[in-house]
Order: sequence, then structure tokens, then C-alpha cells
Amino acid sequence: VPTIGVLALQGDVREHAQALEGAGAATLRVRRPEELERVDGLVIPGGESTTMWKLARSFDLLEPLRKRVEAGLPVYGSCAGMIMLADRIQDGMAGQETIGGIDMTVRRNAFGRQVDSFESRVRLTGMGDTPFDAVFIRAPWVESVGAGVEVLGRAEGGPNVGRIVAVRQGRLLATSFHPELTGDHRVHHYFADLVRRAMEEE
Ligand code: GLN
Repeated sequence: VPTIGVLALQGDVREHAQALEGAGAATLRVRRPEELERVDGLVIPGGESTTMWKLARSFDLLEPLRKRVEAGLPVYGSCAGMIMLADRIQDGMAGQETIGGIDMTVRRNAFGRQVDSFESRVRLTGMGDTPFDAVFIRAPWVESVGAGVEVLGRAEGGPNVGRIVAVRQGRLLATSFHPELTGDHRVHHYFADLVRRAMEEE
């Protein structure tokens, strides 16, 4: 059974942990480098990426997170977690840093310019034909991706139709929306499978 950590600095930690347990994983709240060492995969919840960056730095987690991502740790980031996995941010706070790992530019608060939060149907490659009722909260979108990044889903309606909202690069997965807030945990199942396969490869 894989142990999947949930970065517990901020955000929907309990909802992610429950969804992961439903997908057959053991979970661990990660606040310290020693806890990070023990996990086979990690979820970075939504929240506020500037706060999360500052907290990660003051908890001495930023460099350990970067090192484990470089070493191939599977990580799934939702919303602010997506921002944390981006190599580049637009509309970030001055000096704002990320963990990085996905060769993409993410625009912070992109949808939030029109509305703070909304729901929209989104289909994701490899996660079934039924669309997700995706919940977006001051969400980023992916402005551009490098050649190694697979686009898994795009906004399907409204003024922002076609915007990239889900991506994968190797063992790194990110969505603009919050699947932990609905009963539909296909993203967590997909990620738990990714973690299991990564463990088999090691
Ligand atoms: N707007 C937030 C940020 O910049 C993300 C919002 C969220 O995670 N729900 O980090």
C-alpha cells in the first residue's frame, strides 16, 4: 500500500486524505522534512500559493520538496498546488517562488478576474468519458506548456473555453480545480495508480 502525503501547511488537507484513502492509499500529513522522507507520493492542496510558499520556506520544506521532485517523487497539485508545481508563474507576488517541476507557465487568479468561483464540466484524458463537475476557486489556468507536458483537460464552456486546466508531466500531475470538494475522486484514483506504478519502477 503506498503512503501518500498531503502537504499540511494550508488547504483542504482532510478532504484530500479521505479521497486518497478511498483510492486505497495510506496517508500522512506532511509538515516537516522527516515526514516528507517517508512518503511515496504527495498531494499539494489548494489555498494561497504565496502563503504556501512562505510557509514551506519557514518550515524548511522548500528545498527538500524540490530535491524529492527532481528525484522522481510523484506529486499532484490542485489549484495553489498547481502553481507550486509550475516552473514559471504570471501575476505572482514579487519574488514568489515555486517548487517547480512542470515545464509550464501558470497564470495566477486567471479565472478570478471574471468570477471568484464557479463550476464547469471538464473531461480529463485517461479518467473516463463522464465529465467532472469541476469546482474552480480563484483558480489559475495554464498559459503555456513545454513539449514534455501532456494536456489532460481544458475548460469546456464560458468565456474561457479552451484554457488548459489539467496537465501531466511524467510523475507530476496538476489541476486548476478542486476534485477533493466533490464526491468524484477519479483524480485521486488516477494519482494513486501513478504512485503505485512509480513504486514498481523503483
Ligand atoms: N488564487 C490562489 C493562489 O494564487 C489559488 C486559489 C486556490 O487554491 N483555490 O494561490
